[in-house]
Amino acid sequence: SVAVVLFTSDLRLYDQPVLAAALRRADEVVPLFVRDRGVTEAGFDAPNRLAFLADCLAALDAGLRERGGRLVVRTGDVVEQVCRVVARSGAREVHLAGGVSHYAARREERLRTALGTVRCALHVHDAVITAVPPGRITPAGKDHFAVFTPYLRKWEAAGVRDAAPAPRSVRVPDAVESDPLPSRRAVTGTSPGLAKGGEQEARKRLRAWLADGVEAYEERHDDLPGDATSRLSPHLHFGCLSAAELIHGARRRGGPGADAFVRQLAWRDFHHQVLAARPAASWSDYRPRGDQWRTDGQEIAAWQEGSTGYPVVDAAMRQLRHEGWMHNRGRLLAASFLTKTLYVDWRVGARHFLDLLVDGDIPNNQLNWQWVAGTGTDTRPNRLLNPLVQARRFDPRGDYVRRWVPELAGLAGAAVHQPWTVTGRDRARIDYPDPVVDLAEGRTRFERARGLK
Ligand code: FAD
Repeated sequence: SVAVVLFTSDLRLYDQPVLAAALRRADEVVPLFVRDRGVTEAGFDAPNRLAFLADCLAALDAGLRERGGRLVVRTGDVVEQVCRVVARSGAREVHLAGGVSHYAARREERLRTALGTVRCALHVHDAVITAVPPGRITPAGKDHFAVFTPYLRKWEAAGVRDAAPAPRSVRVPDAVESDPLPSRRAVTGTSPGLAKGGEQEARKRLRAWLADGVEAYEERHDDLPGDATSRLSPHLHFGCLSAAELIHGARRRGGPGADAFVRQLAWRDFHHQVLAARPAASWSDYRPRGDQWRTDGQEIAAWQEGSTGYPVVDAAMRQLRHEGWMHNRGRLLAASFLTKTLYVDWRVGARHFLDLLVDGDIPNNQLNWQWVAGTGTDTRPNRLLNPLVQARRFDPRGDYVRRWVPELAGLAGAAVHQPWTVTGRDRARIDYPDPVVDLAEGRTRFERARGLK
């Protein structure tokens, strides 16, 4: 018998429950990835993610070939393509990881209907994309947790399934043709410092991280110039690594660094379970605060370009453009600056991040933006991060700013965070803008808007 495995955000062979289930039940499988027209039409095909995806598909194909199989790639409407592959291979089952977005839910529903008409069963597997599936743990009488701390307590007690090894062999029926694999080189408009994708690369980074990064995570995760976080987010986004395997690996390593790291992975699950229960929160306020956000103005372009006149904000925004990735502390302070100091709609910022982030995804991006904007799950929705305080705390010597804002590299000491304090001829020599907003005025505008003043 034949089964189709539709890969989505789980582009790996290690700890791959979807493929494992199909292999248990069928003699041959078709490992299928559809370059889905619906994703393109939804404006989600950002060049950085397309390039990274090309690496992931090449790595998946290579891993399958080592095991006697290959990857089948198709392009078009996902449901139509799955049905064609089912017809061509005579498959009686399709296996797929459960997703949480509105798009994923709709895809699943459409697949179920279409496959039902040809008597092909759809098997949706949970605990593939997250470690603890959305909906598995809930507070009494509610469908999801809205506050992280009680969620974390239950999440820690819930247990994570064991991670499984990669299959030894995969037999793919000859009759099913594949489009050529997409190539990273063919994607234009990518960030120059974009990371490389794919399962082999992810596993290399995982080993290095567990051997020598995670231990210091608790003290160093907020150190902007130290860049001491795992940078595993793109691999998690595309599923080149399983969250379950990562959690087991960190727990085996043990210690405060590993504990703090596992807590961050719980945040990932937390946002997924919020979105699964409230799919509309991807673009509408999870907790409306009556904000009359600004949606235009020159400050938005300045923020996007990294020329707000606040060096630490600009450094973060330039890192995003250059690498397609930004340090979490940078994301927090850049998002707070946009939504609170400039009082711009969080959706404007979230869209820009999605256009550039290689790890950009709906649950984590949208719900983190809402968290910062105070329309999400933050229990202190009116806190506003002062970029100067943030800079002094998380980039005390200014090295992060010097790395990303080279026009300020020559400034010594505290001036690197406040170039406007440089006067006279020295100021004229620096090609760097004045601040787009006065911090006190920004704070007052936000507090008035929220009815706090
Ligand atoms: P590490 O610090 O090494 O953490 C390990 C893993 O834990 C991460 O890879 C990630 O999967 C998870 N994680 C850590 N922090 C969070 C968090 N706050 N929420 C959810 N998961 C978390 N993360 C994304 O994966 N995709 C996004 O689109 C995204 N957008 C964000 C937007 C804003 C405004 C903010 C404030 C945060 C966003 N994050 C997003 C969360 C976080 O910034 C990144 O996951 C993290 O910076 C990735 O780097 P890392 O892998 O080195 O993280």
